[in-house]
Amino acid sequence: MRKLFIIENFSDLARRTADSMIAQLGDGFEVSRDDPSGADMVLVFGGDGAFLHGLESWGFPEAPILGINTGHLGFFQELLPEDMDLFKQFCSGEGFTLQPYRLLKAQISSSKGEKEVLAINDFTVRDKGAKVARLSVTIEDKLVERFFGDGFIVASCAGSTAYSYSLGGAIVDPRLESIQLTPMAPINSKALRSFTSSMMFPPTSSITIAPMEDSFDLGVYADGMEVDAGHITGMKFSLSEKRIHVVRKQDYEFWAKVESKFL
Ligand code: NAP
Repeated sequence: MRKLFIIENFSDLARRTADSMIAQLGDGFEVSRDDPSGADMVLVFGGDGAFLHGLESWGFPEAPILGINTGHLGFFQELLPEDMDLFKQFCSGEGFTLQPYRLLKAQISSSKGEKEVLAINDFTVRDKGAKVARLSVTIEDKLVERFFGDGFIVASCAGSTAYSYSLGGAIVDPRLESIQLTPMAPINSKALRSFTSSMMFPPTSSITIAPMEDSFDLGVYADGMEVDAGHITGMKFSLSEKRIHVVRKQDYEFWAKVESKFL
């Protein structure tokens, strides 16, 4: 008996697709929507949003994760609802490869104490209102920049095709396991100077971002979801040792996926 754990977004389409595909699987499968323990495979029905938020709410399960796209873009999703033959094969544990994605980690210091948060794509750091964020950026122990602007996206390779890309960041091959720091609306004037391009860091790096003044209210968002952190005094970003493993077709190729989704 193979155990499948199901995550869906809130759309009718995702629920109906899940019910229909599971019904066609036949015997030999036990399905759960509320207990991921011991699952042989996690199935995510929806788009990238369902993938990111669903996996976060279940603590980033260890089991292989198969995405079925009923959403819009579906960068993490490997199958469409019509791919029933591959769905049966993959659910039986055959015919796929696994793509590991290393998670990003944020260690946040705030009025509420210390907190560690993980993300798949990215962390967004920005003022909660419309004020200029004044941030120091320290790489390892070296102060590299005093930044003035909207804030930063700290992106994993997985997140390089998401928010960071919309801000002009690089698309990064996931095999690099790097961290990308992409500025949001950096100010460059005679008065205030900031780097205007993304910066790339190796997997062992740590990036510390801290407010230079207490006068603004900094927010941090993990994969688009606000972290409940109180008044933030500093954040250290690095790659976590934890990975998720995404089910891919055997002929999966990252750059072919990029071409098909973006051009
Ligand atoms: P969301 O609505 O769940 O996602 C926004 C769009 O980004 C959707 O079209 C989604 O695909 C796509 N997306 C998510 N992860 C992606 C990835 N790794 N590669 C390519 N596209 C990806 O938005 P949310 O809940 O606020 O935040 C989720 C993510 O969206 C964040 O991690 C952030 O990277 C991204 N985001 C982007 C912008 C921007 O580009 N201006 C703004 C806010 C957030 P689906 O259609 O399949 O869901």
